[in-house]
Amino acid sequence: MRRKTLVAGVVAAAVMGAGFRDAPSPESAPLLGGRTIVIDPGHGGLDPGSLGLRTRECDLNLALAKRLGVWFRGAGAKVILTWSDPWQLPATRRLNVRQRVALINGSHAEVLIDIHCNAGGAYRGPQTFYWGGQASYTLAKMVQDELQDFTHTRRRVSRINQYVLRYARMPAINVEVGFITNPSEEGKLMDPTYQSQLTKRIFTGTERWFLHAPWPVSLHPEPTDMEMLRR
Ligand SMILES: [Zn+2]
Repeated sequence: MRRKTLVAGVVAAAVMGAGFRDAPSPESAPLLGGRTIVIDPGHGGLDPGSLGLRTRECDLNLALAKRLGVWFRGAGAKVILTWSDPWQLPATRRLNVRQRVALINGSHAEVLIDIHCNAGGAYRGPQTFYWGGQASYTLAKMVQDELQDFTHTRRRVSRINQYVLRYARMPAINVEVGFITNPSEEGKLMDPTYQSQLTKRIFTGTERWFLHAPWPVSLHPEPTDMEMLRR
């Protein structure tokens, strides 16, 4: 019950345009206190992901993941990044992805947010994907609604068969933040102000999901080694 009162206060503050982190009420500070979020910047190490004219996907993913983490920490959540230094990553992509899943599931986080950039000529706009489950779909929808509103684009939530999403034990989404192959969108994604605004929307959608739905759900069973080897 206490949570409901607290939520109403903070949502009102958000509607009035007050930043969560600036809100004076001591109640609003730990809104996501006790929550754990795992953020996975896609690719990295020897795997740069897609290439833009001026940037590599892995570098943008990492920059955005770090900014997203700042928003969550500001709301009291514990944030785990799967990596923050390219030299931590193992040499082969296969090992890399399996190690990520082990780390993600070992984190016992309630939510996984994977960050990627899309590739495909001059297309534009962010798009949020999920693999399965109502909790993941709802999270994807709430985040995508925020991103549509922010970018004035109309891409919809879609399912994707992606290894990390498939084997994550918690509700999981992949946010493709925009098209790195579109020079205009690449330029935006490189801009620190845009990065901050975009990640705040991902944060806000996730925060809504925590506040307005009966989550978190219990974690899925740990995948077996044989399951993990199937790709
Ligand atoms: Zn990617």
